[in-house]
Amino acid sequence: MHKQTIRDIDVSGKRVFLRVDYNVQFDDGQILDDMRLRESVPTIRALQECGAKIIACSHRGRPGGKVVEELRNAPVADHLDKLLGQEVKAVRSCVGPEAEAAVAAMQPGDVILLENVRFHAEEEGNDPEFAKQLAALADIFVSDAFGTAHRAHASVVGIAQHLPAVAGLLMERELEYLEQIITPKRPFAIILGGAKIADKLGILTNLAKHADLIIVGGGIANTFLKAQGIDVGASLVENDRIDDAFEVMRTAALRDDLRLIIPTDVVIADPGGERVNTVSVNRVPPGFRILDIGRQTIEDTREALQDMNTVVWNGPVGFFEREPFDRGTIEIARILAFLPHAVTVVGGGETAAAVQRAGVADRISHVSTGGGASLEMLQGITLPGVAVLRDK
Ligand code: ADP
Ligand code: MG
Repeated sequence: MHKQTIRDIDVSGKRVFLRVDYNVQFDDGQILDDMRLRESVPTIRALQECGAKIIACSHRGRPGGKVVEELRNAPVADHLDKLLGQEVKAVRSCVGPEAEAAVAAMQPGDVILLENVRFHAEEEGNDPEFAKQLAALADIFVSDAFGTAHRAHASVVGIAQHLPAVAGLLMERELEYLEQIITPKRPFAIILGGAKIADKLGILTNLAKHADLIIVGGGIANTFLKAQGIDVGASLVENDRIDDAFEVMRTAALRDDLRLIIPTDVVIADPGGERVNTVSVNRVPPGFRILDIGRQTIEDTREALQDMNTVVWNGPVGFFEREPFDRGTIEIARILAFLPHAVTVVGGGETAAAVQRAGVADRISHVSTGGGASLEMLQGITLPGVAVLRDK
């Protein structure tokens, strides 16, 4: 890792502005997935051990530059409170007198959580004056907000102009794993699923250069099947991407050392979703939709992955939100979890959720907390929120 971290800087007794990404979903007051909070705890603990005062800052949802009551950070602070076993004060603003007073009252080891920073339009506008106001609260800027690092916002990028800026431990881990994927230990496999080819094309072209195996599943596989002349019924297809899919298949066909797996059997359902069946890809009846990969495709995938040294997976291979179409995705998660010697990296919001649901997250080398950010990094794009951190 070429960026400085909290280990490279003296934080003792300092006020640390800790940008985190606690943009988490709630349902009925209950947090749905607290992975992003849990993953930030090691950084908070390390800072506490040095006697730092931790001023955490996050956005939540898309309030569009104004106060939205349901998007206050208070419930997030309550949950962090439980994870840390200590009080986390939720401050009802993120700049100005109220925030300043809250910081002034802090003791070493204290943690406060500022109000949703996107209540100010200046955040997304990366307004220099607003960045300065945020910076005025602290002595050091620590970024653990990997999930937001692809956004040039005031609390992610602008603030770093005014304070020494280093990576937190979560940011460090994200960067280390994702950098490993850019120059992977071979044999190297990519599994791509999800709904839209456009989102994944950059990864396909960038990572495919050193891939030995590409497995395509999910909605995007339908476009590959159609490019092969297969009738996919009423399945999700991107007709304007058929040429791109064809190009990927052509590249793979020309390279002896690259294997491409496209589903050979699929789980289909009628429009009402009542009749569910597994068929060969050549036998999708009119009106039916492909919603998951079939058993044979899962087994081919399992076998092909066994001797891989690096595997990166992005995008569910089926409509995993609905049973029984989650089976392929859950199986892929389990296959990755039990590979004999591969470094396994999972990116993408939905894919990370699927790995959690399969109950194997702790057997995956790295489950990224950043959806969009990990995708951009895998495409070779420099993230603005990483670029501003001090080099080693
Ligand atoms: P991630 O968030 O992990 O990057 P994407 O956003 O690319 O993943 O794609 C996830 C979505 O793709 C899910 O909502 C899933 O239901 C959908 N999907 C996957 N396979 C299919 C399919 N065969 N038909 C329709 N939707 C699909
Ligand atoms: Mg998604």
